[in-house]
Amino acid sequence: MRKVFYLVVLIGIVSCKKERVPVTPGNISIAEVVQANYKNNYTQEVSVQIGKQNLTIYSTGLPDHKTPYWGKGHEMYEEFPGRNHANMNKSMTSFNYKMTIPIYPNESAYKEETELGPVGMALNGVPIYNDYEGGGVLQENAWSTFDASRGHPGPREDYHYHSEGAYLTVNDDNLIGFLRDGFPVYGRKDRDGSYPNDLDENGGHIGITSDFSESIYHYHVSNEAYSTSGLYVIKSGAYHGTKGTFTQ
Ligand SMILES: [Zn+2]
Ligand SMILES: [Zn+2]
Repeated sequence: MRKVFYLVVLIGIVSCKKERVPVTPGNISIAEVVQANYKNNYTQEVSVQIGKQNLTIYSTGLPDHKTPYWGKGHEMYEEFPGRNHANMNKSMTSFNYKMTIPIYPNESAYKEETELGPVGMALNGVPIYNDYEGGGVLQENAWSTFDASRGHPGPREDYHYHSEGAYLTVNDDNLIGFLRDGFPVYGRKDRDGSYPNDLDENGGHIGITSDFSESIYHYHVSNEAYSTSGLYVIKSGAYHGTKGTFTQ
């Protein structure tokens, strides 16, 4: 009890100090929204475990939609869009992904940069990557290997998304997933259909969403086309909160 009391006092002090600046006080639970939305209708292998402070989402990382990376002859096979083509990694492998994130995500004073590799997980269990690929920032040799949902497998046949695409979000306010700091990430629009114009340098802002009736920090897919790709990257920059673990 005493701990809870101190926490409440602490939150009170922090809130007072930041008058007028909207803050996410770290008292909004993401548990219900996570439980209601994480599923993979194809593999049936996405599950959620709710703990006290953290929750864990398990997945194989395989998508629930069509992609050429299933391989010709597969029931979920479809052609690449336009002139895109497979990279060296022609197929996808199943993993035992485990993303553990805070149930009450909170802003961190230190904003840690996202790195190469999973920065979050889409609602179907597929890892979300930032704007980096093995050799550095995304280049045409990478984005020309994207399927219709703008995903592709990495060197370990680890399928992942980088940007807005079919089955995920296209110019809408869809909830895409959650990043490793526990904050949700949405499509390019807010729920009223407008494009947010007050995103911070990490691509997020505070407000209500279709899923959260109380204001919560949330990321948006970038509204600026990436380089010459014509694509909208899901996440670049730093985490707003403290990142949890993502293992395989
Ligand atoms: Zn990639
Ligand atoms: Zn928003």
